[in-house]
Amino acid sequence: MTFEVKERDLLARIGRLKTKSGTVETPLLFPVINPAVQPVPPRRIREEFGFEALITNAYILKKRFQNQPTEKGLHKFLDFDGVIMTDSGAYQILVYGDIEATQEEIVKYQEQANTDIATILDLPTGWRVSRKYAEHTVNETLNRAKQLFKTKTRDDILWVGPVQGGRHLDLVAKSAIEMGKLPFQIHALGSPTAVMEQYRFDVLVDMIMAAKMNLPLDRPLHLFGAGHPFMFVLAVALGCDLFDSAAYAIYARENRYMTEYGTSRLKELEYFPCTCPRCSKTTPKEVWEMPKEEREVFLAEHNLYACLSELRRIKQAIKNGRLWEHLELRAHSHPALLQALKRLKRYEDFIEEHSPTTKKRGIFFFNHMGLVRPEVVRHRKRFSERYTPSHEARILLLIPQTQTKPYHKSKEFKEVAKLLRTRFKDYANDVHACFYVAPFGIVPTELDEVYPLSQHETALPLDRETIEYVAIQTADYINRTNYDTVVLLHNPQNWNNTVLSLCRKACSTKNIRLKWLNTEQKPSTTMLNGLEQLLRQALGEKS
Ligand SMILES: [Zn+2]
Repeated sequence: MTFEVKERDLLARIGRLKTKSGTVETPLLFPVINPAVQPVPPRRIREEFGFEALITNAYILKKRFQNQPTEKGLHKFLDFDGVIMTDSGAYQILVYGDIEATQEEIVKYQEQANTDIATILDLPTGWRVSRKYAEHTVNETLNRAKQLFKTKTRDDILWVGPVQGGRHLDLVAKSAIEMGKLPFQIHALGSPTAVMEQYRFDVLVDMIMAAKMNLPLDRPLHLFGAGHPFMFVLAVALGCDLFDSAAYAIYARENRYMTEYGTSRLKELEYFPCTCPRCSKTTPKEVWEMPKEEREVFLAEHNLYACLSELRRIKQAIKNGRLWEHLELRAHSHPALLQALKRLKRYEDFIEEHSPTTKKRGIFFFNHMGLVRPEVVRHRKRFSERYTPSHEARILLLIPQTQTKPYHKSKEFKEVAKLLRTRFKDYANDVHACFYVAPFGIVPTELDEVYPLSQHETALPLDRETIEYVAIQTADYINRTNYDTVVLLHNPQNWNNTVLSLCRKACSTKNIRLKWLNTEQKPSTTMLNGLEQLLRQALGEKS
């Protein structure tokens, strides 16, 4: 087994990828090394920064250094004893139209250079291309992929099968299905660079998901050119396991300073927001006054630290089951990222199906963005598909969520429960108490300890969309059940009138009675008396 998954959250995984030069942990970032212009030597990238792997370009190596890398072996040539991945020159095809090498030559070159992870010479789709051309790139890449398995001579190198199709999502899906049938150990999403450069992270979500949903899930997925730490979590959350970044060096050349939430121009910085070994010893002004070369090295090194620390935060968030929270946090770094987060709505079912069902910790619900998270989607699906109340229950008593969880252990509910117990003891099975709760919707008292119905944090008041969501879930529940009366404890302060008005609509459609009464956070004697009266009416009229 080449790839073994250890921990999961959303579609993200912490895994172990076995290569002939060692086993590495994913999500894994490969800094791009260009031996011709390299601000930080590969050996230091491993020893000082702790990067276990790097990526370099076989085509550029071949063109610039001819046989040196193949004669010495790539590890020696680069002075790097970690895991080396090679790209094939596909990006150069994208930029320059064509390259002076064939697929066969590139395959052979990578084998001779003794790389650990190699890439076929795929034909990148690019961004502004016709459907016809996109189709051609998908087919040609597939042909070359098939050809690989006839020409390759070594079995100890992991081969990457890139998925093409660009923004033609049906083509991406087709490409993923076909590439997935071939015995590649790793897949990659090709040509997303232009999409990322234009900050079309919403399109990137579509592309990644089209690939992910159609590739074998047990193989790692590489995202080419995902260089900026502020979007790492988005890619990881969607199931990208491997990345490469040239941005750390390119940005350094342009005096740009990366952070996990964006990019700053060095010139505009008064303070360094980072405490990496480089930033903590100096000031932006001092760095700006350095000779250009020295400054570039400084920025490249800081940028590497910034990438690394974000990757660690992401891994810890996966371990803690808090990746969604981290994703929401980063999504607020840029409007385009927030747009991408909204796009996840389209894929909520797939994400839910492949996310872990229990976690060690509760979840944080901030606002309606969180309605897409798997825990919320899962409760909605399971509750509507699997839950039916006891057929004896005639009256649905709807109670707003309480501060204390589990709800049925709250002071507020205990008062109501006491009323039911003492005044309606002959009707124990007739009245069914359920809570309406953000962000989940309906939570029956008997289920409120099931994860995560009590293991989450929200703060009142809620936003409009969340209230609406809960109201819709409540109305849906009334619609699909057979109570003859709904008794609603209505809290206009926290829930405005939305829950009440959708309940009213649902009850009138079903032609059942709705009785409601205002309540506040703490039940008063007046409220309890009122409730007793309503329940008497509801039961009395029938009995
Ligand atoms: Zn720093």
